[in-house]
Amino acid sequence: MAAEKRDYYEILGVHRNASDTEIKKAFRKLAIQFHPDKNPGDKEAEEKFKEITEAYEVLSDSQKRAQYDQFGHAGVGAGGFSSGGFGFGAGTPFGDIFGDIFGDIFGGRQRGRGRRGDDLQYNMELAFEEAAFGVEKEIQVPYAKRCGECGGSGAKPGTEPKVCPTCRGAGQVRFQQGFFSVSKTCGHCNGEGRVVENPCTSCRGSGMVRDTKTLSVKVPAGVETGTRLKLSGEGGQGIKGGGNGDLYVAISVREHPIFTREENDVICELPISFVQAALGCEVEVPTLDGTVSMKIPEGTQSGRIFRLRGKGVPQLQGYGRGDQLVVIRVETPTNLNKRQKELLEEFARISGEEAHPLKKGFFDKVMDIIS
Ligand SMILES: [Zn+2]
Ligand SMILES: [Zn+2]
Repeated sequence: MAAEKRDYYEILGVHRNASDTEIKKAFRKLAIQFHPDKNPGDKEAEEKFKEITEAYEVLSDSQKRAQYDQFGHAGVGAGGFSSGGFGFGAGTPFGDIFGDIFGDIFGGRQRGRGRRGDDLQYNMELAFEEAAFGVEKEIQVPYAKRCGECGGSGAKPGTEPKVCPTCRGAGQVRFQQGFFSVSKTCGHCNGEGRVVENPCTSCRGSGMVRDTKTLSVKVPAGVETGTRLKLSGEGGQGIKGGGNGDLYVAISVREHPIFTREENDVICELPISFVQAALGCEVEVPTLDGTVSMKIPEGTQSGRIFRLRGKGVPQLQGYGRGDQLVVIRVETPTNLNKRQKELLEEFARISGEEAHPLKKGFFDKVMDIIS
């Protein structure tokens, strides 16, 4: 699936660092060339058109483009969707450009065509381990669907929407402005060409009602805060043959009490006593897979980092796992009793500078500076 897909930049014939304007221009050119209205019955053109619109949908959105650059096609599952929470009003991401491009080329042909359902966003919070290893979760998604009462027409059952008297069904009205004849979208029917005289009581004439659906979402291993999963067609229902919107699941990962994450590496600080650090020891270290035993060599300094290979987070794309980095924190003993202090003082008396090479090196440098 993902592997067979062509590169979006290649599809649009632009460089990876192309500007938004260059991308829009390239899309415009190809979209006009392969638009189904210009190539009726041509399957190849239709496929091509789908491919370029998909590429454009991603590359024209800075967030989706960044995700795509980072994760490739499967990351487009991780498409961007900027507004927070659930939105019913977002509409299609390319409403603008389609209006722009096809409005003038194909004129009124857009009228009466279906409208795509809304894109929705669901914010999903995951535990650290769920994000690392993946999880399947059921979510409740409120969405807009076709009104069952009127079948989406908005007209009271038994009645039909009437031809708009203002534009006589054209969806556009023309008026004279100086020498020019200007046409604009009919305000009476909003370009639909039809008006509902007896609105359906369940949807108040909108043709859509709100409902909630339960979806099972498979979250892949390796997601992190900011990852977005795209569930195609799980957004709001389209009307009049328009496609469904998409559902974006935006991931945020809760903090873990001992682990933090840097890309696919898991980082944890491990406190050890100064005696353990000096003499060396074997310690139990927590990992995502349970505790493992780790050897600390004698003379280990605070801040030293040990790497546990393959104990990190699985790659979101591809194979393998990151590492776990164990950062050693040597703890200075506190609340010492008299006996303990005596022993340390004796230890200090019998320990020359050779036992403290860092300290010796530092004070040698200080002497060099002041002498
Ligand atoms: Zn209705
Ligand atoms: Zn009208």
